Amino acid sequence: FSFWTNVPKGLSDPILGISEAFRKDHYQRKVNLGIGAYRDDDGNPWTLPSVAKAKEIILNSNLDHEYLPTEGLNTFRKTAALLAYGQCPEISENRIASVQSLSGTGALRLGMAFINRFYPHHKVIYVPKPTWTNHKNIARDSGLEVREYSYYDPDTKGLDFYNLLRDINEAPRNSIILLHACAHNPTGQDPTQEQWAEIHDVITRRQHLAFFDMAYQGFASGNPDDDAYGLRYFVKEQNSVLLAQSFAKNFGLYAERIGLFSVITDSSAETDRAVSQLKILGRAMYSNPPLYGARIVSTVLNTPELYKQWHKDLLTMSGRIKDMRVALVEKLKEKGSRHNWNHIANQIGMFAYTGLNPDQSHNLMTKNHVYLTLDGRISIAGLNTKNVEYVAEAIDSVTR
Ligand code: PLP
Repeated sequence: FSFWTNVPKGLSDPILGISEAFRKDHYQRKVNLGIGAYRDDDGNPWTLPSVAKAKEIILNSNLDHEYLPTEGLNTFRKTAALLAYGQCPEISENRIASVQSLSGTGALRLGMAFINRFYPHHKVIYVPKPTWTNHKNIARDSGLEVREYSYYDPDTKGLDFYNLLRDINEAPRNSIILLHACAHNPTGQDPTQEQWAEIHDVITRRQHLAFFDMAYQGFASGNPDDDAYGLRYFVKEQNSVLLAQSFAKNFGLYAERIGLFSVITDSSAETDRAVSQLKILGRAMYSNPPLYGARIVSTVLNTPELYKQWHKDLLTMSGRIKDMRVALVEKLKEKGSRHNWNHIANQIGMFAYTGLNPDQSHNLMTKNHVYLTLDGRISIAGLNTKNVEYVAEAIDSVTR
């Protein structure tokens, strides 16, 4: 007898399943383009030099392991918000309510739980189609209804901007609109500055609430200010926004689970009330957030020399990714591919949306040992100078 005989087997996450298949493959030249984590040119995980130095400083300061308060490490919260929003009246007037979170995922979870508990309108969130698969899981588990707005046009391999505006315009007034702040996952297509302004206008006109997911600040262009353009534009135009920040990619702190959730308020008093409620939510979910990564991020951002080094590190990562995009397109041309692959070089961030269909993607894995998600998304970080030619050859062979 068991209480759990009725528990059905759950579907495994498609992205994590790919890593498992990759591990089981013994072919020597196998390539993993499935997982969204940075790799250096030898295919190894990379500890940022700025982070390595911060770790030394922390080690030498002999700090203890006491609990953090539920809202997190104060120096981290302050500098993380400053990094995202830039110096602005909302910061100086204490109109940003923030709590440290379990990376980007945890920030989204806290934000959506906050919406579910306190948002005074219907709890419907619109996510781009396509989007990071976990957005829908998080929203549903937080009790929100999930709908989609058009985002990508497979024919032009660009933003489906006309339909994007139409869908946001037609969404019931006061909907929540989830926006990728930069490096849209999985398409690698971001709005231009003019398009951000138009998106802002329709969201404002319809009295929607924008929820920014910023998982790649600085990782996309190499410049954290440029990557925050859309977010800062909304804030400058007096919109109340929600923001989920992750420090997984831009600091290479994936497993340390460091993030920040924040929301713009109307007054310092409203900030205090919002933080008090976010603490109640966090207290019941995980009690208090992790300390180590918060210390690392805070040390890097608050030590001028390390801050400078971090900017170099961002350029190292984003630069290598841009180089690999160009290299892949060049190699495909060299192989004589008759398709146009230029979109791979033009997209931005960790991923390229190749346009390979599920059959071609499946063949790439089973015949060529190159692993990716079935939607044709590849992690450019998995490419390097040693495997890019092999991958180009493989892509060419499945698309002939
Ligand atoms: N949002 C997007 C768009 C992502 O791609 C990711 C990671 O892949 C996340 C959020 C959250 O990642 P984490 O919880 O590791 O910070």
